[in-house]
Amino acid sequence: MRFIIIIISLIMGKYIFPQVDEYVAARNNMVRIQITDRGITNAATLKAMRKVPRHLFVSKEYESDAYGDYPLPIGYGQTISQPYIVAYMTEVVKPSGKKKTLEIGTGSGYQAAVLAEIVDTVYTIEIIPELASESSARFKKLGYSNIIGKSGDGYNGWPEHAPFDIIVVTAAADEIPKPLVDQLAENGRLVIPVGEPGAIQELMLLVKKNGKIEKTRLTFVRFVPFRRSKTDGR
Ligand code: SAH
Repeated sequence: MRFIIIIISLIMGKYIFPQVDEYVAARNNMVRIQITDRGITNAATLKAMRKVPRHLFVSKEYESDAYGDYPLPIGYGQTISQPYIVAYMTEVVKPSGKKKTLEIGTGSGYQAAVLAEIVDTVYTIEIIPELASESSARFKKLGYSNIIGKSGDGYNGWPEHAPFDIIVVTAAADEIPKPLVDQLAENGRLVIPVGEPGAIQELMLLVKKNGKIEKTRLTFVRFVPFRRSKTDGR
């Protein structure tokens, strides 16, 4: 009898305790080894990285690799960034509650989810319609009702919701899109990989102070290219 009960609980456990997440330890190790040990200290960022179930932002095939120290394919030739880069970009924009946030390049939705753990609202734009709808479904399933996504070319930002306190661009552009700089609020922070697609790019931070832009070069990165849509582009 006892044996039968044990077997039933093993099989049913997943359904009785759906909140049990077998990747908690993997996530905590990821944060310690890849993120805090490399110098990320912002408490909100670390908390968000410990919480967001990264394995649910990749396909089944890559699930067990989700907490590794590398980017992973998400289909359509695109990638989910390496955890450290997501944490770094999150820390550098100094997220907090009221800061209205725009992300360009939703992809899997992982970076948006990390930001949405900290700020009230995240707007996010993805140029590949399939990825935009897959990530929207994921936000819904995981309860991220504070992420508002749309499909389109993010070059022109999202004027209806501007200005933004935070803008995070997760695709490499050879120039910084002017509309995004224009949509940055006073004291706003914009982070973007700048450089030739396919090569190593420089991650840049732009801060708007008294209407002027201060630029800082942060580090070298490798991102997928920022694309332009023919119909949407101006
Ligand atoms: N932030 C994503 C990273 C995805 S890779 C994540 O956490 O998974 C970058 C994404 O930017 C790709 O999905 C790509 O299709 C998208 N992208 C490229 N150019 C774009 C543009 N002009 N506007 C919006 N999205 C763009």
